[in-house]
Amino acid sequence: MITEEHPLTLYNSMTRKKERFIPQDPKRVTMYNCGPTVYSYAHIGNARAAVVADVLFRVLRHIYGEDHVVYARNITDVDDKIIAAAKEQDVPISEITEKYARIYNDDLAAIGCLPPTHQPKATNHISHMAQMIEQLIEKDFAYESDGHVFFDVSKYDDYGKLSGNTLDALRGGDRVGEGEVARKRNAADFVLWKPELDGVGWEASFGKGRPGWHIECSAMSKATLGETIDIHCGGVDLKFPHHENEIAQSCCANEKPFAKYWVHNEFLNMGSEKMSKSLGNVTLINDLLKVWDGEVIRLALLKASFDSELDWSEELLTQSKSQLNGWYTFVAARKKQIGEEYIYNPEVVSLGLMQSLYNNLNTPHFLSRLIDFFKSEDGETELLQSFIDQGKPPPGTSDVLSMMINTTRVLGLLQKDPEEWFRGNTSDDEEDEINDLIQQRDAAKMAAIAAKKLGDKAKMGEQFKRSDEIRDKLKARGIVLEDSPDGTTWRRE
Ligand code: AMP
Ligand code: ZN
Repeated sequence: MITEEHPLTLYNSMTRKKERFIPQDPKRVTMYNCGPTVYSYAHIGNARAAVVADVLFRVLRHIYGEDHVVYARNITDVDDKIIAAAKEQDVPISEITEKYARIYNDDLAAIGCLPPTHQPKATNHISHMAQMIEQLIEKDFAYESDGHVFFDVSKYDDYGKLSGNTLDALRGGDRVGEGEVARKRNAADFVLWKPELDGVGWEASFGKGRPGWHIECSAMSKATLGETIDIHCGGVDLKFPHHENEIAQSCCANEKPFAKYWVHNEFLNMGSEKMSKSLGNVTLINDLLKVWDGEVIRLALLKASFDSELDWSEELLTQSKSQLNGWYTFVAARKKQIGEEYIYNPEVVSLGLMQSLYNNLNTPHFLSRLIDFFKSEDGETELLQSFIDQGKPPPGTSDVLSMMINTTRVLGLLQKDPEEWFRGNTSDDEEDEINDLIQQRDAAKMAAIAAKKLGDKAKMGEQFKRSDEIRDKLKARGIVLEDSPDGTTWRRE
């Protein structure tokens, strides 16, 4: 449990201040993150938004306990782009949405994101959306117009508070295709319900149709988390209009505050521009995973604080890979040194390192202190001090190693066995093939030694050459052989 000396602070985009985080109920801390619209692959900018929320989820679980944090991240599985893709491919929309929702979840799992507690799908909550729209019409915050239902922004005094927009400055903040000025009372009014499109629609008291994007999140967060949630996350591009509209709908329908803290991640840039599908400068998570281990991608994403922009580059990945190689080498050496005595102790974490995360999730600061730990004995002294601070008995080396592994778990890093890390993703077939080549090399070496004893220099040279060839062949594939008195082992470079 968190102590007075180690409070969690978060930058709240609503108040524009860093604030101490105090949940409504420490036994049920709630967070919501706007999830993907599933009609194509997610890019690494989308991954940043998911990883930032995942780090927050992990920190909250660490503080309040795993069973006391409820995290919902939705799936938007009805949308004009999905309907268009289904029409083009002549398949039901579910065929597209199920495929890309699965890919999204697999991609995020590969970069170390925990599954959220709830992953509501919009199409499973249409009745909740319709109910909320009915309430808004009843309370005169919404009006019907030509098969559509719009939210009347002039009725909600706080509209624009999150994004800093004034009503006068607002001109049609809808997603393309959602707003039709002629039908609206005010240009900034946004759509809650639209008529059926290409056979996609649900019956409702205000006509057969489909929901607007914003009402989906208001209804799904209420259904899974309740009327007032502790933390709402998402990228800065969602502040307006999406989050502004979620607030308006939820506050007016429920007559309660919507979210206590707003945590917005800044952009991931490619070149000097925001990575986005519309600019065409995207790198897909799925493609990166074909080349890089998910943990390398995760570390690269954590190198900037969530509220600063992150410039994406190949160099960032190369640097992250080499750091992880170094860290896993250190863990392997420590484990070997401790040997049989190593007992994993799940209880202690480094308070010094956690302090960085409690300070507005400052991941770069955490990482720089971690680097210090690996570089010098000072880091280790600091970890030892944490034991004393937590009133634990003086640690053995075993405990210090556990402590480091427990602490890095809060970032979702360094959780593999070093051997597994260095071997990377190897299929059973490849593993068999490598072991077979190692055996062939051993046989060639033994044959060379036997030939040497017999004075058969030609055979000796031939067999040593064969053994070197096998080693070089594996090296060319990035597989390094390590000979020791116990035999030959292999790892990836
Ligand atoms: P979308 O599928 O566009 O609704 O985006 C899903 C999530 O990714 C949202 O939280 C966006 O704000 C976030 N996002 C999209 N592009 C970027 C980017 N380049 N950098 C950081 N976050 C992004
Ligand atoms: Zn949302």
